[in-house]
Amino acid sequence: MTALSVRGLDVRFHGQALVTGVSFDVGAGERVGLIGESGSGKSLTALAIMGLLGDGLAAHGHVLLDGEDLLEAPERRLCQLRGDRIAMIFQEPATALNPTRRVGAQVVEALRTHRGLRHRDARRAAVELLERVELPDPARSARLYPHELSGGQRQRVVMAMAISCCPRVLLADEPTTALDATVQAKVIHLLDRLVDEQGCALVLITHDLAVVSQTCDRVVTMYGGHVVESGPSAAVLDAPRHPYTAGLVATAAAVTLDGPTPTGRLPSIPGSVPADGRFPSGCPFRDRCERAVPRCTEVPADRRDGERVVACWNPVPAGARAPAGEPGGERPAEPGPPGPGPTGQGGPR
Ligand code: SF4
Repeated sequence: MTALSVRGLDVRFHGQALVTGVSFDVGAGERVGLIGESGSGKSLTALAIMGLLGDGLAAHGHVLLDGEDLLEAPERRLCQLRGDRIAMIFQEPATALNPTRRVGAQVVEALRTHRGLRHRDARRAAVELLERVELPDPARSARLYPHELSGGQRQRVVMAMAISCCPRVLLADEPTTALDATVQAKVIHLLDRLVDEQGCALVLITHDLAVVSQTCDRVVTMYGGHVVESGPSAAVLDAPRHPYTAGLVATAAAVTLDGPTPTGRLPSIPGSVPADGRFPSGCPFRDRCERAVPRCTEVPADRRDGERVVACWNPVPAGARAPAGEPGGERPAEPGPPGPGPTGQGGPR
């Protein structure tokens, strides 16, 4: 059963499109990984879903939580839903917690606000929650301030607050980025277990493709504020079809598995995400893409193959695995019509 359905979500800043036409569904108990470099629109998408966009940013489209459109809901209704039916774990736990209040009191407040518990019951439930997120000596830890806990312990407190009301949808935005490698693995394992126990829908935003591969049922790749590829995570990560996903996979594989290429260099995707957020027209990836063809000056249409969707005029051939060091794999197999290339010099670069 679909818990969250995002349909044609746009986010604009004073008219400039930052996120365009994002659509995906997450079922109850399902885990969807949202991947892409910083600046690809992942966190903005999550904030738009939560109704937490900053000044000047406006969201359009549909965000359906069990059929209720959050983009139509008044702020008062959103306040009821946030932390109750939909919750978010932020990247940096230190900023998600109030530094002047004991962590137990902050969990108690979440429980009293959303579950209407009496103070004594909320205190007992808070300690139980801190135990569930495996905080050492939870009764004692509840009396500490955030600065007295380690980064991993603070993130566990944030997770306890997020799950305190058994939300239907949990968004986790790079929940382990601020933590060291050993703590990261434990926090991801804990998140995975909590999702299992609660049966909620998880949207996991991460740069870590190994985590996506181990944790997520499906993956959605974003670039330039667009969804460029989506599908079952095993299929997408084993044989990515969008050149950008292929580049991410090749880079991750070289770093974590294969090591540098024979040239001694780690593969990388050419260029970088535009710092000013101004992507080229047509395909937003075309000035970095080694498979670009003349037609890439037009916005790519979605190609569907079962559960897989790829928005690309010249995708990596089905079944081909992009070798490390060559994001995008082989040269174009489906050349576009003659005409000026994306650089105005004709043909693929
Ligand atoms: S081949 Fe064209 S449409 Fe596909 S990612 Fe490259 S530039 Fe974009």
